[in-house]
Amino acid sequence: MSHRITLIPGDGIGPEVVEATRRAIEATGTDVTWDRRQMGAGAFSRTGRALPADTVASIRENRVALKGPIETPVTSGLGSVNVTLRQELDLFANVRPCRLYPGVPSLYDDVDLTVIRENTEDMYTGFEFEMGSVAVKELMRFVQDTTGRRVRQDSGISIKMISREGSARIVRFAFDEARRLGRSKVTAAHKANIMKFSDGLFLEVAREVAATYPDVSFEDRIIDALCMQLVQAPERFDVLVLPNLYGDIASELAAGLIGGVGVAPGAHVGGVDGRELAVFEATHGTAPDLAGTNTANPIGVMLSGAMLLRHVGEVDAGNRLEAAVAEVLADGAHVPRDLRTIDDDRPPAGTFQVADAVIARL
Ligand code: NAD
Repeated sequence: MSHRITLIPGDGIGPEVVEATRRAIEATGTDVTWDRRQMGAGAFSRTGRALPADTVASIRENRVALKGPIETPVTSGLGSVNVTLRQELDLFANVRPCRLYPGVPSLYDDVDLTVIRENTEDMYTGFEFEMGSVAVKELMRFVQDTTGRRVRQDSGISIKMISREGSARIVRFAFDEARRLGRSKVTAAHKANIMKFSDGLFLEVAREVAATYPDVSFEDRIIDALCMQLVQAPERFDVLVLPNLYGDIASELAAGLIGGVGVAPGAHVGGVDGRELAVFEATHGTAPDLAGTNTANPIGVMLSGAMLLRHVGEVDAGNRLEAAVAEVLADGAHVPRDLRTIDDDRPPAGTFQVADAVIARL
């Protein structure tokens, strides 16, 4: 079967790591037609738009995209191009598998968990009010009238919003993912003891949803305790589900357990008008310090490519790509610069050398 996939090279190291992954996906023998589109700072300088309409339309039509990291240009008028894309396509679930592969330097022996982060609510809705603005003064008056408490006049305000519907769908997604992956436990993280009406609602809904999945066990953790326990004993966790901001932080923490952002894959899943859409991209950003130097680690995007292949039904090809990456990591002859320890005297392998080593094993 032929697959049409939107390909967004992105900014900084994006074009290099995405090209490495494109070649590896083709080397699995999967029949793909790439629909190349632009997004980010490069797109802005070429077209005047950081999120061109044809890019969004292409993802809607093809339903699946492989994306490199992008930079949001300050003058683009968008707070964050990534957040705007996720909101436009209602990509409500960010899936970040964190698996430690043999050969990757880490403080741990056994890490294999999946972080599911809510992508559209919480502190990321963009309801931001600048210190001194008329809106802030009105909000302060409202807060004072309704609570009787004064807000410091020199405050800026960001609004945290968590809905019943948004919480229910992300927690259901986490349980469905746990079933699909054959996992036995979902852990929900929150700060319900302090934020009773936002995180408290998330926890209440998570408990309700959990009761409808009797075959998967459920527990909850206060976010600060979860962070400590992830560092102490990550093997205790299986699937984590978190509101947006905690999910952002905890998934980066989890990436740190498995070798860093260079090897951490991800997907943004959701959809509009009844069509499921998915954008696959690594956790890392554009790494401008490495752009164009053939030193970036392509493995985070390559593992995202393996997830993409499984998502489009090419399960065998996805598994083979992941296995080839794992073999290269275990073999240790082609180590990307970011995976070398201080006393490592092996020469670092460049982006394309790592890609070639993976492709040779396919
Ligand atoms: P970053 O992930 O780009 O870089 C953090 C550190 O990790 C740097 O030292 C970098 O060299 C290193 N690094 C990142 N990817 C690597 C790789 N593949 N191989 C080896 N080392 C790697 O994060 P940042 O510096 O906070 O952000 C830089 C830019 O990227 C910003 O404009 C930010 O907004 C953007 N960003 C985009 C995305 C995305 O598009 N999904 C995600 C995060 C950050």
